[in-house]
Amino acid sequence: LQRGKGFDTEPIERPVAEQEESSQEEPPPVTLTDFLQNVPPSTMTAVTDLAVADRYTNGIFRSYVLAIPPLVLRCNHEVCQGPRIFRHRKGRPDLNDDDGTNCFMTYICSNCQEREKIYSLWIRRTKDASSGHVYKFGELPEYGPHTPGRLITLIGPDREMFLKGRRSEIQGLGIGAFGYYRRVVENQKIRILDEVIRAAQKLRSGPVLIEQLKAAQRETQFSKAIEVVKAALPESLLIDGHNPLSLLHSALSDGLHDRTDEHCLQLAHNIRVVLTAFSERLAQALKDEAELHSAVSQLLNAKSGDSSSKGDS
Ligand SMILES: [Zn+2]
Repeated sequence: LQRGKGFDTEPIERPVAEQEESSQEEPPPVTLTDFLQNVPPSTMTAVTDLAVADRYTNGIFRSYVLAIPPLVLRCNHEVCQGPRIFRHRKGRPDLNDDDGTNCFMTYICSNCQEREKIYSLWIRRTKDASSGHVYKFGELPEYGPHTPGRLITLIGPDREMFLKGRRSEIQGLGIGAFGYYRRVVENQKIRILDEVIRAAQKLRSGPVLIEQLKAAQRETQFSKAIEVVKAALPESLLIDGHNPLSLLHSALSDGLHDRTDEHCLQLAHNIRVVLTAFSERLAQALKDEAELHSAVSQLLNAKSGDSSSKGDS
């Protein structure tokens, strides 16, 4: 991506938009809401509804301030755990400098009033217009779609590596994304198979499968390990009727060959989707089993409680 080029050496003096407008095709203009929510950092983007006229602060001079929209963002606070409205905390950067303005925007979740989202931006309003260009230096928490907690739990210590893969995928870097995901699966092979064994035991799978899964754990490479597992997984762990371990295996071995970036991007996407679905199946299988176990013991306890009270009377 060449869009952000130039900021390394001249962050303010020479706005990138000026050079880009003539030389390169620009992505279509978006609203500021769309830009903040859905455009990854390091991109120069034309924004339609950037500024509003603010006549109060500057007497008879027409001055412009940033038009700040509320945003809908995912909030990870324990009371929220989903999309919530975030509102800007305070202040309105003014947009009257022809060279552009650097600013931070801090949003806070309207529900929990605790979680924040911070953007670092360079904004230049087009002369005599409410539109302009915005460059996103970065945001905190980092840009990227939500990654389910169950998947993060499954891959454990390789969380950061996985998120790097996710960011590569978002930016269309197929070989990069594939490489990160493959590393995560290879590194966490033992952990993933541990979970499968735990679920298989709970689901009362035969000893043959458990033995094969344990043998697979001893193999160094995930791809080789999965070839060892011939017995069928319990049905509740299957994805669309297929063994997720075999699906991961075929995606991982495919990408080892000399593939294009686009092909690797598709594989990376498939690996992530299968891994996510698999983590959900595993967690659900263990939860269902725990629930069933607790229901059975409660029923048994109630029964023995009934009989003892009958005996007392
Ligand atoms: Zn919240």
